[in-house]
Amino acid sequence: MATSALRLATLPLRAVIDVVLPPRCPGCGEMVDGDDRFCAACFGQLQGLGPPQCACCGVTLPHDGDAAARCGACLADPPAFDRARAPFAYGGPTRQLVLALKHGRRLHLARMMARAMLRVAGDLPDDAVIVPVPSHRWRLWQRGFNQAASIARQLSRQSGRPLLVDALERVKPTPSTKGLTRKARLQNVAGAFRVARPEAIKGRLVVVVDDVMTTGATVAACARRLRASGARQVEVLTYARALREGQGA
Ligand SMILES: [Zn+2]
Ligand SMILES: [Zn+2]
Repeated sequence: MATSALRLATLPLRAVIDVVLPPRCPGCGEMVDGDDRFCAACFGQLQGLGPPQCACCGVTLPHDGDAAARCGACLADPPAFDRARAPFAYGGPTRQLVLALKHGRRLHLARMMARAMLRVAGDLPDDAVIVPVPSHRWRLWQRGFNQAASIARQLSRQSGRPLLVDALERVKPTPSTKGLTRKARLQNVAGAFRVARPEAIKGRLVVVVDDVMTTGATVAACARRLRASGARQVEVLTYARALREGQGA
């Protein structure tokens, strides 16, 4: 008793809360019998993204075919990244989890997200480096932490690939992209990023990490800067992906 009380006393407050409170489903808040998992109802609502899918952006394709097949959007306007993958469509429980990461039990949630993301990441070569989409300092201060960086830290731990948390820098605060059209979003993020450590990414495969990919404008802006600074290949890994009308199953 005395030793466990002592152990609790030496843990940071957040960790104490994690020990004392029973694990809850990040999708709906119901109690579950272990950390890092959805309840059965939320699990049933997850929309997994997998083959057949666009070789580039990863959206579901209607027919099983050539593994190199690309969707119409990627054929018409090839993205700045080589490949983007996400284990789930954004919505329902995945939306709740992403919101919970911003406000809640961060370590557990980031670990759970990273595990799902690595399942769809494919083989990461030895020279791969993990780079989170940076928050602007102002937003970092407001929220207190960068959710992309906390997921990236867990991805690095689980994959054994190095984390370069400061390789990219946000050089201008971009207002929230909510409700903007695709074109407006692209303009919004153009010039928002700068490669702060070109020597660390030169010739490497860079895995750009974020919580959600919406239009892809943000990660494409990052990819463009990374390529211009000599990255060999740029892959995007997010936990969830917002699907447009007609995308996905
Ligand atoms: Zn649930
Ligand atoms: Zn595509």
